[in-house]
Amino acid sequence: MHLHNTLSGRKEEFVPLDPNRVTMYVCGPTVYSYAHIGNARPVVVFDVLSRVLRRRYPNVVYVRNITDIDDKINAAAKKEGVDIRVITDRYAAIYHDDMAALGARDPDHVPRVTEHLPEIIAMIEKLVASGHAYEAQGHVLFHTLSYADYGKLSGRDEQALMAGARVEVAPYKKHAGDFVLWKPSADDQPGWDSPWGRGRPGWHIECSAMADALLGETIDIHGGGHDLIFPHHENEIAQSTCAHGGKTFARYWLHNGFLNIDSQKMSKSVGNVLLVHELLKTIPGEVIRLVLMTGHYRQPVDWNDEVVGESRKKLDRLYGALRELADVEPAAGVGAPDAFIAALEDDINTPMALAELFELARAANKAQSADEKARIKAQMLDAGQLIGLLQMQPADWFALATAAADAPGADEIEALLAQRADARQNKQWAESDRIRDDLKARGVLVEDSKDGQRWRYL
Ligand code: AMP
Ligand code: ZN
Repeated sequence: MHLHNTLSGRKEEFVPLDPNRVTMYVCGPTVYSYAHIGNARPVVVFDVLSRVLRRRYPNVVYVRNITDIDDKINAAAKKEGVDIRVITDRYAAIYHDDMAALGARDPDHVPRVTEHLPEIIAMIEKLVASGHAYEAQGHVLFHTLSYADYGKLSGRDEQALMAGARVEVAPYKKHAGDFVLWKPSADDQPGWDSPWGRGRPGWHIECSAMADALLGETIDIHGGGHDLIFPHHENEIAQSTCAHGGKTFARYWLHNGFLNIDSQKMSKSVGNVLLVHELLKTIPGEVIRLVLMTGHYRQPVDWNDEVVGESRKKLDRLYGALRELADVEPAAGVGAPDAFIAALEDDINTPMALAELFELARAANKAQSADEKARIKAQMLDAGQLIGLLQMQPADWFALATAAADAPGADEIEALLAQRADARQNKQWAESDRIRDDLKARGVLVEDSKDGQRWRYL
């Protein structure tokens, strides 16, 4: 198996430190709002990688954290007048459901920063004791000049960079590139007791501490979007390596390219931010997943109506081939073709793997003998499972596609849900159930949660 390592800038053979325990850490979301479609890209990419690794190795431990301490969370909580926990629990749950709808399996561990403060504080204490960090005005900072390899991942020469930059440097910093490990909290801000007073951790230290706590000092694979290379991952390396007496932190660094909308960068100022939660109301999760792996993970990917439409048609074709084989029992002991696996093991080459899958669909349509049909069906299902596609019954896929075509629009659904809310208020449970069942028959799933009624297209 080969993976492109950002650290060396080339594709390398993947050899785990311990083949009986392969470890992977991926930086997860900051939960203060809904995830956008760009945030879903690393989730799908590393879900595929975890599946491919699990096929080869008996024990893969995949960790993706939840950042539940952050100033954006504090701002959102303040705005609603609630505890940060209300915000983080709400958006962590929505994130989980949205990513599950894209076929992403749960990582083995989903740690939250608030559950790991003792480890974070202990790691900062180690860095201070070993002279890699210092306390200044209630802050603790990592001293980047104390780590000779600082800048190696991103290829930045931090000193030269900072010397030329006209940035305002906080007066308590020894060096412009030094970054915060711990900062003081005002009385009205969330805070935790520490040797440096009541405060909260900086962003970077949380990943170093949680990776250590759950996976150990040296991990095999570390992933995230390429925007995280600097400063986040550069800082994670500096902290972990210095806290662990110079031991390698992560052996393979993988970074996905960005997702653009209609060839434009997604941004609030352009107003083209697409939320997964909204997209799922009209586009099946499997279609979204396929769009996200149509290109190679390191390349940019463009989201537009055309690729969404093409992905729907591609799934029609694949499920169409499987529908023709509905009465065929898949051959026992037959898995995905070698070429399909080889493509995925060659730096997760999903475009090539998908080409192999379409080849199988073509072969299925031409297959004559019962043996051949049984073999192809087994190959298609196993290949699909490895990349998280084709796990529905073909009939269900086509029912879903048809339902999506004549399902009621959002306005009509909202109006019916308002009627249902009235019925529930008046304890007319039969009427409430009737509206819910009618919507389900028309392809809309309604769920009752503590935040009220939630709906999505089936
Ligand atoms: P954030 O919550 O902003 O830290 O982002 C969570 C993950 O989504 C990180 O791995 C980011 O690198 C990734 N990400 C953010 N925006 C995009 C985008 N437009 N395309 C691909 N990945 C993205
Ligand atoms: Zn991280």
